[in-house]
Amino acid sequence: RTVYVNGSYLPEHEATVSIFDRGFLFADGVYEVTSVLGGKLIDFAGHAARLQRSLDELEMANPTTEEDLLEIHRELVRLNEIDEGLIYLQVTRGAADRDFAYPEDATPTLVLFTQAKSGLADNPMAKTGMKIISIEDQRWGRRDIKTVQLLYPSMGKMAAKAAGAHDAWMVEDGVVTEGTSNNAYIVKGNTIITRHLGHEILSGITRTAVLRMAQEAQMKVEERPFTMEEAKQADEAFVTSATTFVMPVVEIDGAAIGTGQPGDVVARLREIYIDEMRKAAV
Ligand code: PMP
Repeated sequence: RTVYVNGSYLPEHEATVSIFDRGFLFADGVYEVTSVLGGKLIDFAGHAARLQRSLDELEMANPTTEEDLLEIHRELVRLNEIDEGLIYLQVTRGAADRDFAYPEDATPTLVLFTQAKSGLADNPMAKTGMKIISIEDQRWGRRDIKTVQLLYPSMGKMAAKAAGAHDAWMVEDGVVTEGTSNNAYIVKGNTIITRHLGHEILSGITRTAVLRMAQEAQMKVEERPFTMEEAKQADEAFVTSATTFVMPVVEIDGAAIGTGQPGDVVARLREIYIDEMRKAAV
């Protein structure tokens, strides 16, 4: 596999980053994951815009321009012959003598790699649905910044696995914030309910697109908090993320949602999302 590091395309075993990199020492870095369908990028502009916002919030320099970044993505897709899969991008503040204060002169580190993954669009999970458990949200207070501090979400995934589930939804002050690596939704009749944006959740690129498409399809959208009790009573439930798109949730803390099978509203949203995003891919 060919990867990208600070201006060079290299075989993965030749790519190196300093042990003094602040991404390694302080999780002082941000990332993006963009899906590839049919060799093209899904919502690249959305990911580039959120990257810039994450960097701005952390006063970190952007090592590249959106144009150059698009070229790097495309070149990696080409070199690795990715038809379906994802591209991971990470920017860290760079290498510097270890000190909590930001260094003044560090050069940011930019790393990208691809992962080929068949079955993103034809994901068998879309037919069976996910089981999720709830866990307390113990992450820091700026979840709107897409940092590489992912240990608590990893612990959540492990707790879900141990419970025989696929993922966890996180609960804070009695309401659901989001999933470990996705945004969380419930459906009641023709209404889609998902937590409003703020510092408490990541503004999903998929979330933005799906809420727009739901409204265009004459569904109602309510951006407000919901409880686990309300979720268990919902007709349908789902999550969204760049790599799972729209994925049905059929069980929450052991309780079946609706019929216990993926429902029509979620199936329809998934189809609309994949169709439209394929057409708009770059
Ligand atoms: N919330 C969290 C905590 C996430 O990690 C992700 C995926 N990175 C999302 C939401 C979904 O965001 P997106 O649709 O941009 O992938």
